[in-house]
Amino acid sequence: MVGVDAGRVAAGAAGRNGGLLLGGAEPAFHDAVADWGAGPAAWLYRATLAELDHLVDVLPAGVVRRAGSLRLAGGVGVDDDERTRELADCAAQAAALREHGIAVEERSGSFGEGLFLPDDAQANPVVRHLGVLAHLQREHGPRVRLHEATRVLRVRPGRVETDRGAVGADVVLVAVDGRLDVLLPQLGGERPTVRTARLQMLATTPLDDDDAARVRERVPCGVYERWGYDYAQLDDGPAGLRLLVGGGRDVDRAAEWTTSTDPTPPVQAHVERVAERLLGRPLRAGDVGHRWGASVGYTAPEAQGRALCGLVDERPGGRVAAVGGYCGTGNLVGAVAARAAVRLLLEGEQPPSCFTPPPAPP
Ligand SMILES: Cc1cc2nc3c(=O)[nH]c(=O)nc-3n(C[C@H](O)[C@H](O)[C@H](O)COP(=O)(O)OP(=O)(O)OC[C@H]3O[C@@H](n4cnc5c(N)ncnc54)[C@H](O)[C@@H]3O)c2cc1C
Repeated sequence: MVGVDAGRVAAGAAGRNGGLLLGGAEPAFHDAVADWGAGPAAWLYRATLAELDHLVDVLPAGVVRRAGSLRLAGGVGVDDDERTRELADCAAQAAALREHGIAVEERSGSFGEGLFLPDDAQANPVVRHLGVLAHLQREHGPRVRLHEATRVLRVRPGRVETDRGAVGADVVLVAVDGRLDVLLPQLGGERPTVRTARLQMLATTPLDDDDAARVRERVPCGVYERWGYDYAQLDDGPAGLRLLVGGGRDVDRAAEWTTSTDPTPPVQAHVERVAERLLGRPLRAGDVGHRWGASVGYTAPEAQGRALCGLVDERPGGRVAAVGGYCGTGNLVGAVAARAAVRLLLEGEQPPSCFTPPPAPP
């Protein structure tokens, strides 16, 4: 097996994300049940939790922190009416999860009010991916060859052309979330199947003891609020405890449909307000240690939040499948989609209907 990546492992969104490892997909569970049907929604929810179990098994202890997640109603810029609507939505989500035997608890505290999902987890995304790479190398040794800093220029059945040479293969899997529409132009165009967007985050510098104590209460695990647009977790690294906050994609929505990964003032200003809310005090000069963005893929609205998984090209020389378009939540869905694509390529098993297929191959 040969893997190629234009950059380095975990240098893209996979290593720059919020680190929340959540059951299910981008639509909340009750919305997925309503739009996709109970069977596909429940299948994907259980598959993502199984993926999480697998990560716990293969990664060193402590990399995955299975502390649950909090979905909170409200947040920065949210008025009382909107918060009440979101609380009602939390209640609908809890009812659907209980109906399917999935653990959920109503919670309120200094962090706000919403739902606690005890099965969920969080991780430092770079540590997670480097750990998975080490596991694959241990398990499969020389059968897995990875070429980093190798940009794919063209994918054809049987042949992948890169800027450092070509790879011949009967089956090819393109597993790229953001910029998938650039690599496979047939998925872009005027009515794109997938579209690249930028998501942004910031990290504080290490917090002093008072800030750390306050923020530990408000961010006891991975937290997301305002319909999931804003999210946060804590990173307890060697330098000390830091708050990591992301979101605000809707603040400047049109500008975030871009392949640029540079952070921007309007979105960063919003993310700063989220950080201030969680810290319980205004940010001061020197509080923000790092700001960044990365590319992710969204499928078209008619896909109703389903990720893309399926064949994009098939000829006598070989077959090409693609996965991506995880709509901002690819940490577990991405792995589930990739496994489904491998079963399609190697065993001919059609991906389940919780995924949206690409347009039929030519
Ligand atoms: C700020 C932010 C926060 C997020 N928070 C969360 C979260 O909390 N929970 C969650 O579940 N998801 C989250 N996501 C989404 C999640 O990070 C992504 O869906 C997931 O990491 C996608 O993984 P990937 O490996 O497909 O994509 P990437 O990590 O982007 O990897 C794609 C790889 O493809 C390579 N590539 C692209 N084009 C080419 C080419 N032409 N040739 C060769 N290689 C190429 C790139 O170099 C890159 O390494 C977040 C994303 C961002 C940006």
